[in-house]
Amino acid sequence: MPSRMKILKGQTASPGLVMGMACLYSEKEADQVPHYAVDKDRVETEILRLNEAIEKARDTMKDMIKASRELFDKRASEIFSAHLMILDDPVLYDKIATLIKTKLINAEHAVDDAFEEYIRSYEMSDLHFSELAHDTMDVKNRIIFSFSGLSGRFECPTGERQPVVIVSKRLTPSLVIAMPKKNILAFITEEGGFTTHATILARSYNVPVIFGVDIEDNINCADRVIIDGFHGKVFVEPDKKTEKLYAKKIEELNKKKAVCEVRKEEPSQTKKGARIKLKANISLPGEMELLKSIHYDGVGLLRTEFLFIEKELPPTEDEQFRMYRHIAEEADGREVTLRLLDIGCDKMPGYLHLPPQDNPDLGIRGARALDFFYGIYLAQTKAALRAAKHGNIRILFPMVSDLNDINEFKDLASKARSALKREKKAFKEVPQGIMIETPSAALLSDVILKNVDFANIGSNDLLQYTLAASRGNPTVERRYHIMHPALIKLMEIIVASGKRNKKELCLCGEIASFAEFYPFFLSLGIESFSVAASKIDHIKCDLLHLKRISPSLTNKLYRSVTIEEIDRIFGK
Ligand code: PEP
Ligand code: MG
Repeated sequence: MPSRMKILKGQTASPGLVMGMACLYSEKEADQVPHYAVDKDRVETEILRLNEAIEKARDTMKDMIKASRELFDKRASEIFSAHLMILDDPVLYDKIATLIKTKLINAEHAVDDAFEEYIRSYEMSDLHFSELAHDTMDVKNRIIFSFSGLSGRFECPTGERQPVVIVSKRLTPSLVIAMPKKNILAFITEEGGFTTHATILARSYNVPVIFGVDIEDNINCADRVIIDGFHGKVFVEPDKKTEKLYAKKIEELNKKKAVCEVRKEEPSQTKKGARIKLKANISLPGEMELLKSIHYDGVGLLRTEFLFIEKELPPTEDEQFRMYRHIAEEADGREVTLRLLDIGCDKMPGYLHLPPQDNPDLGIRGARALDFFYGIYLAQTKAALRAAKHGNIRILFPMVSDLNDINEFKDLASKARSALKREKKAFKEVPQGIMIETPSAALLSDVILKNVDFANIGSNDLLQYTLAASRGNPTVERRYHIMHPALIKLMEIIVASGKRNKKELCLCGEIASFAEFYPFFLSLGIESFSVAASKIDHIKCDLLHLKRISPSLTNKLYRSVTIEEIDRIFGK
């Protein structure tokens, strides 16, 4: 019988190898939302129905925030807190209620219309808002489903009761968080991106995630599938030969994992015994809990923005002091690299306001926000210096472009020290470092590294600013290639500057979560990395089995000028 095997290609957002059964998930389509006219005397009832549905949606979201906090999944709780803010937007509520009253339509119809207007404007306006369009759609669906209790559905009898590969046109954060973790083998989607909120959550399940796959007409419910999350491939109804090959690969991968389990407590090193620093990226004090059972080399990036975003007012100096002290104490002598607020763009606490900007990605962010919120930065720096008395804290200046930015932060640190002396509060001097995440900082790295103690390479922003392609924007996702030749060139410059100036460079962007790139990173000379706490074990395991990259391959990589050449080197 001829083989029915199909090989579909997509983009890997989380690696791994699995074999299993496909389960298609389809969202309830907007055109299934009931639309009907109501009499004037039913308006009151419709408003009551609306209030009840919103209340129900709010309860579900609160449960989700609670669940994600319990799982120390800061991304999830951050995303759902933002959704809650959309849900509680009084302007949106008034719009819906007015539509019911003036157009005499049912509540679902009014919700649909009011949200669609917002969604369309986000989609059409600044590209930066496209992620907000997804989030708004997710909130709309949650309210609509609260009326009927219906949401999307699994299209096959496997449902969610046994482990399955979830195949869906697109994922939403609510869909991912509602999945029973133990029953998910992988996520395959048509739409998506490396940094969309749903992908970030799906990745935290530690299963393969592939997006950009042509699902329609290619995968049916209960099809047998092999997911090669190392190479972004999906084999549908694989032939015997492929199945045998992958069964062997999966067995080898599991053996590798077993070796790593035994060596879990050891510091991370390569097969040849070269010591590699593997640190954690965290955003909430609670995440320190995740690190208790593993070996790690400190907190390589404490993104402090979330401590501000989740509050209704900026945390005071004392509140921050207590949080930073807690993290420093939990780290038990290991370095904690505390990044001063990188606010602006999508990371903006609701109580802080900036003038309207046409292009926020290129506007007030990181170092530039200092002028606008000096008092907040001063309180934060004082809190960090005080907490340093209780642990090994270093401070990191975000989004600097040149020496001027660095000098402004240094001046801030010096003002913080003077204030603490005046106030007779105990503090400690700390090493000062920078994020190298703008092309300018990369190109000037030789000069600027002379003026700081260490640096982190922020590949997420470095890539978006080098390629002029926003992170998480599906329209330019293909251009935001995480191993772009231009990034490689900039990394060469940064690493050479680091070596000349004998300063530690720690790679802390998402790129450091991809184990397959480590032979290259090591050959480039990077020895320090910081990744999400949940990724440390996986990377450590791969390092233990790492084969050296041949010098000729390294040279080939440096000489590569197209994305395709780079992809070929990494076997994609
Ligand atoms: C980066 O830009 O690579 C980085 C680590 O910073 P963030 O993702 O917080 O912008
Ligand atoms: Mg950044």
